[in-house]
Amino acid sequence: MNRRLAWTILAVVAIPGCARSSADTARRDGGAGAVQSGTAAAPSTLDALSTDLAPGSRTSPAITEADLRTRVFIFADDSMLGRNAPGEGDRKAADYLAGELKRLGLEPAGENGTYFQEVPMPRVGAASPAPGPVPTGRNVVAVLRGSDPALRGQYVAIGAHKDHEGISYRVVDHDSARAVALARMRLEITGRGPSPQEIRATIDSIRRLRPARRDSVFNGADDDGSGSMAMLEIAEAMVNAPTRPRRSVLFVWHTGEEDGLVGSGYFTSHPTVPRDSIVAQVNLDMIGRGGADDTPGGGPDYLMVVGHRRLSTELGDLVDSVNARQAAPLRFDLSWDDPNHPQQIYGRSDHASYARYRIPVVFFFTGLHADYHEVTDEPQYLDYPHYTRIVKYIHDVVRAIGDRPARLRVNR
Ligand SMILES: [Zn+2]
Repeated sequence: MNRRLAWTILAVVAIPGCARSSADTARRDGGAGAVQSGTAAAPSTLDALSTDLAPGSRTSPAITEADLRTRVFIFADDSMLGRNAPGEGDRKAADYLAGELKRLGLEPAGENGTYFQEVPMPRVGAASPAPGPVPTGRNVVAVLRGSDPALRGQYVAIGAHKDHEGISYRVVDHDSARAVALARMRLEITGRGPSPQEIRATIDSIRRLRPARRDSVFNGADDDGSGSMAMLEIAEAMVNAPTRPRRSVLFVWHTGEEDGLVGSGYFTSHPTVPRDSIVAQVNLDMIGRGGADDTPGGGPDYLMVVGHRRLSTELGDLVDSVNARQAAPLRFDLSWDDPNHPQQIYGRSDHASYARYRIPVVFFFTGLHADYHEVTDEPQYLDYPHYTRIVKYIHDVVRAIGDRPARLRVNR
């Protein structure tokens, strides 16, 4: 999720020893000189815990909680360097995705027979362009060919963003930074946050369990590891299903979202399939949280839905009817879809790049939580049962758009 509109900080609790993490990033130098977390010689308790939570390296055909855990722990590992774009982290993320797509047998749909589309990246903050070639990030693009010869020339696009914010120049104590961020969110949700003494007590209790862990990597487990790994799980389920969707499914992992929707802007202006053959775009950006402690109004069934009725009434109806058919339907929060909502979320993630060409879009999201754009956005804090239900539902939405006899009508 793009932070163009600054996250509203209602209160910053400053107490000794409780450093707040910083948004200062070292994206452009690939983090040279920055300290990574988890580099201590002896494995910390938290490392052991992380290993317990990530059950294995193999994934199964079905969309499962275990598979999503495995994938998010890989994709949001410190070794991905915060998936900075352009840079080494963006390349590593692209390589993991391409490896999985090849293993699953999806068709490459990027440039020159590869899964990659090179995207020129703006040099943020540069007074004048530096000499030499323009740095590029990588969109990753793949197709699952549809089963109906009459409809497989049309595409249901599903997208997420693979990039995140790189590495911070400022190293923080992870537990302290998180305790303060959680306190801030509790204040926003309940109107009453813990006192500095209560935060101190929380940190002291954590300290009895494990030593301080220095952290500087923006792992982006939820933003947008959750959407990126959901797409791989959906691809794996569709590849292994008895029948494929009638229309083709176009999977696009965008780069440079955090720099202003750069990858989706480039893909939609340089599409690798005919733009008018894309019947809809389903965007997933931050779908792994949304609990009662994460966001106002959150809970185990919570899902924010944005944009689904803005261009096509039929898409809006489909999004609702597929949810009604779920074994346990999700509870939609439509409040952020209001054109007057102060966060203006409709313009802040990659679906907006598709909507500007009047491609019907639906954007799924579980809210801006305490770890949003902090180094504490790590895999162990996702709500995997909730996230898994959301991914299964989104799979069914994509499948339903793909199997409809008639193309979705754009009527608004
Ligand atoms: Zn973001």
